[in-house]
Amino acid sequence: MSANVQTSSESILGVDALSATPYKVSYVLNIPIASLTYQQVLSYLEEQIERKAKNFCVTLNLDILRLTNENESFFNVVKNADFIFADGMPIIWLSQAKGLRSENTIPLPERVPGCDIVQDMCRLSHEKGYKLFILGAGPGVADMASQKLKQQLPNINVVGTYCPSAAELSNDAQSQEIIKTINATAAQVLFVALGAPKQENWVYRHRDQLAPYVILPCGGSIDFIAGTQKKSPTWLGNLGLEWLYRLACNPKRLFKRYILDDLPFLIKAYCKNIRWQPFAAFS
Ligand code: UDP
Repeated sequence: MSANVQTSSESILGVDALSATPYKVSYVLNIPIASLTYQQVLSYLEEQIERKAKNFCVTLNLDILRLTNENESFFNVVKNADFIFADGMPIIWLSQAKGLRSENTIPLPERVPGCDIVQDMCRLSHEKGYKLFILGAGPGVADMASQKLKQQLPNINVVGTYCPSAAELSNDAQSQEIIKTINATAAQVLFVALGAPKQENWVYRHRDQLAPYVILPCGGSIDFIAGTQKKSPTWLGNLGLEWLYRLACNPKRLFKRYILDDLPFLIKAYCKNIRWQPFAAFS
């Protein structure tokens, strides 16, 4: 797909015929994002577990949005997810770019950090007994996270962890074995910590065979819980500067992602979508 940077933000009132969702959707670069607050997203996910409805979720941050804009097959993976929410201020800003200027648009209400949703799903597991499975997150990291969680939330129900190799993930027969392991635990929530776009691509490829109801690709969230990576303070995230903190913690790995790829993409997307109307005030 060409780097067609074009932002649109559309409000869909009630159940929408196009997306058939029971919530409003805002489109950013043609990706339908749930126009919900953090608490509403959490309630929605809980409801999905209670209803036993399968949801392949995407925590849409700027990096994932950029990847959808550069790669058509990844665009289709994300676009066809069951539930997409706005993980990060840049997505909110982009939803406002046109929303500020068009009657029929509603900007996204607030950011919904995927790593906080992971923490809250862990709390819900502690309170309601939901079974959690953690796939990925580097050797030993998911187990370390489970132990830490158990100290804070004694009734948490982590029914399994598994750290697959890259070869296992790309091999269909071996992936089926992983899926069998996950499904045998009857997990209701699956965290997939493999980094984008690998985690979304793997889930999308196997979503029909995966039994958990909430399937949440969650990037570095498990590292934050385990303490192998530092989570940025909430106030920085609210300013849209979480990336700066992560960059400072891990400059070698993240310089290309944030400075060379994501920042120019954000500027380009934002500038292209601001309609400069110098005489609007006089019309
Ligand atoms: N990871 C993994 N297997 C892989 C690639 C990544 O287990 O093949 C893990 C990695 O160890 C980390 C997590 O995926 O725990 C998230 O990766 P990353 O930090 O790139 O995600 P981000 O949060 O930055 O999107």
